[in-house]
Parts: sequence; structure tokens; C-alpha cells
Amino acid sequence: MGYKVLELKMKTDYTAEELDDVIRKILRISDFTYSIEKQSLDGRNVKDIHWVVRVGVQSIEIQNDFEPEIDNLLIPFRKRNEHVVVVGNGPAGFFAAFVLIQAGYMVTMIEQGPEVYTRTKDVKYFEKTGELNERSNYAFGEGGAGTFSDGKLTSRTKSILREKKFIFDSYVNAGAPEEIKYLAKPHVGSNLLTKIVRTLREDFISRGGTVIFMNKMTDFTVKGTKVKSIETEKGKIKGDHFVFAIGHSSYETYRLLLSKGVKFNLKNFAIGTRVEHPQELINQAKWKVPELPGVKAADYALTYNFNDAMTVYSFCMCPGGMVVPAPPERGLNIVNGMSNYKRNYPFANSAIVAGIDLQTLLGREMEPIEALEWVLNLERKFYDFSNSYNAPAVKVQDFLRFNTTTSFGPTSYPFPLVTAEFRDLFPKDVTTSMMYALKDFTRKIYGFEEGVMMGLESRTSSPIQLVRDEMRCAGFENLYVAGEGSGLSGGIVSSGADGIKCAMDIIHNSLL
Ligand SMILES: Cc1cc2nc3c(=O)[nH]c(=O)nc-3n(C[C@H](O)[C@H](O)[C@H](O)COP(=O)(O)OP(=O)(O)OC[C@H]3O[C@@H](n4cnc5c(N)ncnc54)[C@H](O)[C@@H]3O)c2cc1C
Repeated sequence: MGYKVLELKMKTDYTAEELDDVIRKILRISDFTYSIEKQSLDGRNVKDIHWVVRVGVQSIEIQNDFEPEIDNLLIPFRKRNEHVVVVGNGPAGFFAAFVLIQAGYMVTMIEQGPEVYTRTKDVKYFEKTGELNERSNYAFGEGGAGTFSDGKLTSRTKSILREKKFIFDSYVNAGAPEEIKYLAKPHVGSNLLTKIVRTLREDFISRGGTVIFMNKMTDFTVKGTKVKSIETEKGKIKGDHFVFAIGHSSYETYRLLLSKGVKFNLKNFAIGTRVEHPQELINQAKWKVPELPGVKAADYALTYNFNDAMTVYSFCMCPGGMVVPAPPERGLNIVNGMSNYKRNYPFANSAIVAGIDLQTLLGREMEPIEALEWVLNLERKFYDFSNSYNAPAVKVQDFLRFNTTTSFGPTSYPFPLVTAEFRDLFPKDVTTSMMYALKDFTRKIYGFEEGVMMGLESRTSSPIQLVRDEMRCAGFENLYVAGEGSGLSGGIVSSGADGIKCAMDIIHNSLL
């Protein structure tokens, strides 16, 4: 059996038959199988937008014996009498637990929020009534912040290839489309993610794992350098190893960790706003046509270096998506973006954020706890402005002219927009850098000034970062803080991969 890799140029709405045909003609073979290894959209020339498709073709008619390299995660199984306690059911916690159960450990995973079906209802209720459930929202509950996310599965880190393959294979086994394995910008969307996280949970339980929802870790006991047990609302849970995959939204849990001597440092992070446009405007700007057959919706990525200290950039761009209220606690006003698999909402949104070094911004040294407090205060300020989850907003063109906006058109945001002067809400350096950046973006994307800036985007990543000794928390023998809560990963895939790395470290250390 021979193997050959081809890189093909295909029209945007190509069919499987057409791809078959092209391979047959190029290689002059009739009996073959193929798999798509990578597919990315080449939109550099608007008159010739096409997919670049890399396929690996296998056939007895190909004369070589080259075998494709498959780099799988190897999980050594043996029956083990060690108990691992995982706190948090986001991508990091779930994938840590999923690997450990496959390695033969006893695994208990607790999550402060409910399972995903109840969570979906709670999120809908919040958007209808404005009454937030502090345990069940866009940040907390089964699947973590990853569930009602935009579901972009992009990650550029080269050092997590095996982990990424494990995550993608698990998602596909749980119902995600095969294409996530080869698309350059894989995307599943919230509607699929809710089903995927439930199916994965059932798989985990069928392998012997335990999941306890609506159970919050309130404390933990440390003896010397070892965690012995955690206190939860449903009682004490003892364990041999502990993975706290708590995300970066539960500041209460962060405070607990800091009070117990888990070491964190300050790190740079970003704050800004969401900008929303009609999707058709972005399609026109990028493609010069309102729609492109075979491609869901156009996206963009923008960056502007304001000065050595501050870069403004687009983040978590959600084509065909909606802006959502994502506070984890009452009295905080935070927005984020999401989409469904089809990306067929008539709006495009993206965070436009300025990267900040808080100590430089404020001109003083700070403790991690103060950085958390600073973020909370900003989020409270946005809430207090409207005394609700209504989003303070201004049109880009008005912001650039130092005006406020008198009326807004249709928006995807579920609550009303409230006219605001962003210069009164954000630190001055942030609005100044944003102004220069937005001017630049209006030159890069035709019509960008027609967008609406809405709300505060403050949870792009954690303001604090864990101090690790290899994978473990510095100073602890059996404690891991995995995923976004560590401040060392960001996004679904890299957080899931970090959870897997923590799990593999537990397995490796058990073998020693
Ligand atoms: C609206 C939205 C859209 C997003 N879109 C994308 C996207 O398109 N692509 C992407 O890659 N990323 C996206 N993200 C970010 C992504 O969701 C996160 O990076 C990822 O979920 C982090 O995974 P995690 O497991 O580290 O933490 P989380 O997913 O935050 O999970 C942590 C879990 O721990 C639980 N927990 C915390 N403290 C306790 C405690 N004391 N006791 C019990 N449980 C506790 C929380 O309830 C939570 O469920 C989005 C986020 C949001 C909010």
C-alpha cells in the first residue's frame, strides 16, 4: 500500500465527488482512500477565493511504502488504587479526568454548577428576565466556560499536538463533525458543544468515573506539602492527587487558593469591548460579495501596536454569532461572544481589547489579590452604569469623534444597549490606544466604523498566573491547577491540553 500527500486548490463549495475526481486524475489511480489532513481558506485574492486542501491518499496503485505518521497520546492502563479528585468540569477538568479514568485511577469530578440541560434553561431564563443564577450561567456549569462558547477549536501551540489530537478524536467520537480534525479554523458552536459535553460525561461515567454536579469546593486540607482532602457542600472528599481546574471566573475559588498558599504572580492580560457589525458588511469587506457558497461567514483578525507597552487586537471573533452577557456573579457587567455551528446569525462580533500590564498602567506594585479586585471593580463600574446587565454602548464612528450615540439599530445582545461615554468607564490609556487602533481598523475593513462597541470584555484571560514546579503547583506534591485558572492556557483546546498534561504528570509520577 502506497501513500501520497497532495495539496489541492478547490472551489469554496466543492463536493466529495469533485475531490475524488481531482485525486483520480492527478494520480491516475482508481482504487484509493483518502483523508483530508488540512483545509484552509485562501482569501488573499477576492476574485479567486478558494480552499487549499491537503489530502493523504492511500492506494495499492501508488508505488511507495511511505506510512503516514500518527502521533497518539499513549495512556498506560493498570488497575490503580489511587483516587484523583478533579474540581471543575470545564475542558481542563474534563480532559484531565477522562485521561485518568482511562489510565485506571478512581476519579471523582465535582462541579459547582448543574448538568448542561439545566444550565441551558438557566441561561435562557437569565436572558429573558435579567435574573442571574450565580451557579449556572455562561461561565459555570457542565462543560465550564467552554460550553456556551463560540466553539472555535483553534490553537497554535506546537507542543500540544498529541493532546490536541486526543481532544479532537474525543469530540468527534462524541458527535462533532469530522472536519474539525482538518479545518485550519475548526469550529463546533454552542449547539453542538452542549450535546458533546453530555455524551463525553456519559462515556466518563460508563468507564467508572464519578461526577457530582451542584457541588462546590469550599475549602481544602493541607498537611505539609500534600493536600489531603477537599471540603465541599456535599461533604469531605479525600484523595491521593488533586486537580483544580477552576477556570478564571471563580474569584472566590482564587481567593481560597491564595489563602492556602498556592502561589500566583501577576501577568499581563487584556480588557476592552465587543464590537458588532452586520455579518454582511464583514462578508462584503472581506470577500466583496455578501455570501460565499460553501463558507459560513467571513472573519477577521486585526492588530495595532499602539506603543511598546500596549497592543490592541481583535480577540475571539465570532462570525454569524451573538454577543452575550457573561457575568459569573450578580452585579458585574461582562460581555462575551458565541455562535452556533451554522454561524448563521446576521451579526459578526469580536472583542477589541488592549493588552495591559496592570502595574505599569497604575504605576505601582500589586499583589495578585489586588489585581483580581481591580478587574472586579471595573466590572462593577459597568454594571453600576446601567444598574443592570444592559450593555453600555457607543458606535465606533461616534467614539472616534468623541460623541455618544443617540440610537442603536438591531443587535444580537439580549438586553438593551445604553448610550455611554467609554472614556468615563475605561482607564484613559485604554481608550486612547483603542481610538488609534479603531482608526487603523476602519482603514483595514471597509465600513468598520459602522460597528457598535458594547459592554466590557474583561475575561479574555486571567490577570494572575500560577507558579508551577514542572506541572505541579510550586510547594505542593500532589496538587495541580490546570487550564485557564492557572493563567497558563487560554481557550478550549489549550486548556483541555493543559488538563491532559497534568493528568499525564500524575500517571508518570505514579510509575516512578
Ligand atoms: C462566551 C464565551 C465564549 C468563548 N469562546 C471560545 C472559543 O470560541 N474558543 C475557545 O477556545 N475558547 C472560548 N472561550 C474560552 C473557553 O471557554 C475557556 O478558555 C475554557 O473553557 C477554559 O477551560 P477551563 O476548563 O480551564 O475552565 P472553565 O471552562 O472556566 O471551567 C472551570 C469550571 O470550574 C468550576 N469551578 C470553579 N470553582 C469551583 C469550585 N470551587 N467548586 C466546584 N467547581 C468550581 C466552574 O463552575 C467551571 O465550570 C469562551 C468563553 C466564553 C465565556
